[in-house]
Amino acid sequence: MAGDINHCTIIGSGPAGYSAAIYAARAGLKPVLYTGKEPGGQLMITTDVENYPGYPEGIMGPKMMEDFQKQAARFDTDIRYELISEVDFTGPVHILKTESGVEVKTHTVIISTGASAKWLGLESEKRLMNLGVSACAVCDGFFFKGQEVAVVGAGDTAAEEATYLAKLCPKVHMLVRRDEMRASKIMQKRVLNTQNIEVHWNTETVEVLGKDGVTGVKVKNNKTNTESVIDVTGFFVAIGHKPNTAIFGDYLEKDAAGYLITQPGSTKTRVDGVFASGDAQDNVYRQAVTAAGTGCMAALDAERYLAAREII
Ligand code: NDP
Repeated sequence: MAGDINHCTIIGSGPAGYSAAIYAARAGLKPVLYTGKEPGGQLMITTDVENYPGYPEGIMGPKMMEDFQKQAARFDTDIRYELISEVDFTGPVHILKTESGVEVKTHTVIISTGASAKWLGLESEKRLMNLGVSACAVCDGFFFKGQEVAVVGAGDTAAEEATYLAKLCPKVHMLVRRDEMRASKIMQKRVLNTQNIEVHWNTETVEVLGKDGVTGVKVKNNKTNTESVIDVTGFFVAIGHKPNTAIFGDYLEKDAAGYLITQPGSTKTRVDGVFASGDAQDNVYRQAVTAAGTGCMAALDAERYLAAREII
């Protein structure tokens, strides 16, 4: 550190944040990492992770994040269990403010604030989370192999999840709240041409049924106002994600959905010394392994930035 200015401050504690911390710490940047309100990020609400290389038997999401955290701590990452709630990127030294009002000065910032899945907001959906309710078919679909499932949503994510699940499950019910889909034409075509996907148009979810696991979903046709029950053991919510980028206001360039825009082939944002990694800047892949990869890239970019200015 030079005076009371951090070399590198990482915001967020998912795979991107901890990977950035491991690389930054091993490069001697003495990173300070703010975990945010949900330490560990989205993997904390996942059960088995079977697609992260290096875990041949799979690993529970929370355990994996505990290991990420331990690895970052082992190389002297200063981990603070606080939320950054404000930023000021106007000067050459960046200023962050914690929720409790502490000001943090830093030469570089690595953003890894992630994205959060949107939920319907039903009590039953919350209660049965990880007991049949999921927001990620690629993560959890395998556990429903051979079973009947439902997917709610009608965008590209829902279409992709439904077609993915249709390869594993005998029947996929797609619950679409309007009489048309928002998904791109090609994705719609793929859904409609898949024999074991049944699209339920004008259909809203009333309640996810089940006590210790999902046993069905109560739906309402909003044209006829009639309710019915579809027997499924898996309920996938695919109504979009929201990147956690609101605190960056207009300092950084964002796409229409709020994802941060980085320079192609790097993690650089339009502000010098501010780098973006993980799901906060990725609307396409959104995997733990890709987040970890961009976290590593951000640390290397930060290191080069500091070295070029002879700060380290
Ligand atoms: P979108 O915002 O595009 O779609 C969300 C869908 O969820 C809409 O169909 C919406 O319905 C529906 N929805 C929202 N709230 C509810 C609710 N309460 N009940 C029922 N349905 C609801 O999100 P996506 O995640 O699908 O896509 C985000 C972006 O990522 C898009 O730009 C997409 O193109 C892109 N993407 C691209 C992929 C690819 O190219 N392979 C894969 C995945 C995403 P309604 O239409 O009625 O508003």
